Amino acid sequence: MKVCVDSELCDGCGPCVDICPEAFELDEDGIAVVVFEEVPEELQEACREAADSCPTEAIIIED
Ligand code: SF4
Repeated sequence: MKVCVDSELCDGCGPCVDICPEAFELDEDGIAVVVFEEVPEELQEACREAADSCPTEAIIIED
């Protein structure tokens, strides 16, 4: 499973970082970035939850 953030859609609101801080962080422009591309097994559920919680649907998951 892979995850990425569409920086054009992200508004920096932050729930992804709250839900899965191991995967997401805000960069210097306040836009979410993913710290890895291939999601470790133990973080997949949290990444899906973050994607579901993103109000702008900026988090893209590829199975
Ligand atoms: S929840 Fe979505 S819009 Fe908000 S910071 Fe995370 S990726 Fe960006």
